[in-house]
Amino acid sequence: MFRACLLCALLLVGLLSVGITAQPAGGPPLRLEQLEDKLYVLHGGCMCGNTLFYIADGGVVMVDTKVAGQGDAILGELRAVTDLPIVMIINTHTHFDHTGSNAEFGTIERMVAHENARASLTKTSCPAVTNCDAFKGDNAKYLPNVTFSDTRTLNVGTDRIDLHYFGPGHTDGDTWIVFPDIRVAMGGDLFGAKGVPFIDTDNGGSAIAYDDTIANAVAGLENVDTVISGHVEAYPWDDLVRYADFHARLERHVLAGLAAGKTPEQVTGEFTLPDSLTDFTFSEPFATNFVRLMYAEASAQ
Ligand SMILES: [Zn+2]
Repeated sequence: MFRACLLCALLLVGLLSVGITAQPAGGPPLRLEQLEDKLYVLHGGCMCGNTLFYIADGGVVMVDTKVAGQGDAILGELRAVTDLPIVMIINTHTHFDHTGSNAEFGTIERMVAHENARASLTKTSCPAVTNCDAFKGDNAKYLPNVTFSDTRTLNVGTDRIDLHYFGPGHTDGDTWIVFPDIRVAMGGDLFGAKGVPFIDTDNGGSAIAYDDTIANAVAGLENVDTVISGHVEAYPWDDLVRYADFHARLERHVLAGLAAGKTPEQVTGEFTLPDSLTDFTFSEPFATNFVRLMYAEASAQ
């Protein structure tokens, strides 16, 4: 788990620092996990986020599409479990490792994302992590055509999918998706892994808002037993509750350090986790950056 998270981190840092647009190779092998009767999690295949297949009676709802070039591999895994057409793709957020293969499944009736994620994907220029270049020209037809701001319910046949936005964090367009009939939720990279997250400030991400946004999710999501992380495993609901505790403790620690005149490096080095959170990590390359960003945001308020 830690290694997976660290590799994601290094990849993002690499992309951001050199600004390359080439897609990464490698990553763990594809692994299809049947989480519920009608829900599959497709792990790996690249250095990229999880893809979900929700087999609704009106067709397949896919969540996130990994990096570019993964469409055939994703479709191969899907066709091993159902022949139903893909009727909806939901992107949890704008990043290249969650929207990369959107254009590789032909015309899909509904392409769904938060309105801020769609705005990111339609930028005229963007860092490679944002993936706006993939939707230029003829590929503009693969941009999200269904958006929302706070909450929205979508129906696929008799199945219901609830969408929520609880505030900025990883970006300012992170969607929470809930499948109420099976009591499962996914929040993309807002809960990407059990550790300190990357904050995409180019796309409205916020370190200082993160604890509130996770707390809002805990308060606002109802009747959920399982939360699928953006990049790692599916976890019990209580792990999201403890993730909110992780962020609340982190923010208190960082703001106390700021008030005491400590450097971000000191504050990073002094953060410790209680026994109740030993499965969470506060590690580089994101830890000190997260503290620096919270310092800057707190100082600007
Ligand atoms: Zn992301």
